[in-house]
Amino acid sequence: MHATRALIHLDLLRSNIAAVKAFVGGRRICFPVKADAYGHGAVPVASAALGAGVDFLAVATVQEGEELRRACIQAPIILLSLPSPEELPALIASRLTPMVADAAFARELDAAAAAAGTTLPIHLKIDTGMGRIGCRPENAPGFAAEVAALRSLRIEGTATHLAASDSRDGGDLAYTERQIDAFESTIAAIRAAGIDPGILHAANSGGVALHPRSWFDMVRPGLALYGYPPVDGLDGVLKVSPVMELESRLVFIKPVRAGESVSYGRIWTADRDTVIGTIPVGYADGLPRGLSNRLTVIVGGRAFPQVGRICMDQCMVDLGPDSSARKGDRVVLFGPGPGVPSAADLAREHGTIPYEITCGINKRVPRVYRET
Ligand SMILES: *Cc1c(COP(=O)(O)O)cnc(C)c1O
Repeated sequence: MHATRALIHLDLLRSNIAAVKAFVGGRRICFPVKADAYGHGAVPVASAALGAGVDFLAVATVQEGEELRRACIQAPIILLSLPSPEELPALIASRLTPMVADAAFARELDAAAAAAGTTLPIHLKIDTGMGRIGCRPENAPGFAAEVAALRSLRIEGTATHLAASDSRDGGDLAYTERQIDAFESTIAAIRAAGIDPGILHAANSGGVALHPRSWFDMVRPGLALYGYPPVDGLDGVLKVSPVMELESRLVFIKPVRAGESVSYGRIWTADRDTVIGTIPVGYADGLPRGLSNRLTVIVGGRAFPQVGRICMDQCMVDLGPDSSARKGDRVVLFGPGPGVPSAADLAREHGTIPYEITCGINKRVPRVYRET
């Protein structure tokens, strides 16, 4: 197998699920496994999660839902994004649970479900301030009534999505609380119209961490379950560990003299005689090229600076003048464990979010599933 691999620690996923479940007082968990489970591999991750107390799964596309069904996963799967009209038969055949935000879409779904001779569970989606998909709160009771009148749809739940729940900024905290207020009053209005809104859910990872009022009946944390705290300062409150570990090996080691440069563009020159190791991982694997000269990698349990431009398929590390490193030594680019940079550390250094790092680990990097 290729030296560069993404180890997926299913034991850590399970303990993250247990930690979040306990933190939210045993509420139901809907686990987003969209984008191939944030790059971790949807089928193995979803299967492990369902065995560890997750109740619902969520995907972004019909194709992602079909992949889970092909793997014989039976749990309810919420479709978070909107499908194309031509995808509706596949959506129904795969028994996905769409989010519905407008009456025209509800009628199309109803017709497709009726044509397939089935009743489709759906969740109403209310836009309380995300500005992406959702029915406006003031239109929600009328919309809910229209959906409730459709013979082949069944309202199983009602949801909203929080726009800034992972921020401790005062304005953002207040904004999120107003979103929760708006969701609560919308639910009350739907109930007053004589309609059961079903399972209520709003909280992404930020909501789980900072807004207990957003927990309702079910929470939808992705990031936290993959092991990244959505905000700093949760140590001792909500303990999660990164599930993905990007590992590789030294494939070449050579002495380099002071004044010699390493890699494209000569952005790094040795200021002393040293030993340089080559690692077969590059930006085509998803290691951002923008991190060139700014990355710390772990070789044989110790931290060393990555030096020179990160190439498409390889990068180099300065092992120091007295290095005893050997070809084949294990390298860790990011992962769990003390002293190991996490994908969140790489993201911070790169001016992005951990989601983009784990989702960006390319398909050519084999995922290897570990139980311990
Ligand atoms: C992706 C997504 C989530 C999960 O968000 P995290 O920030 O990863 O916790 C929850 N709800 C919806 C609608 C989403 O699209």
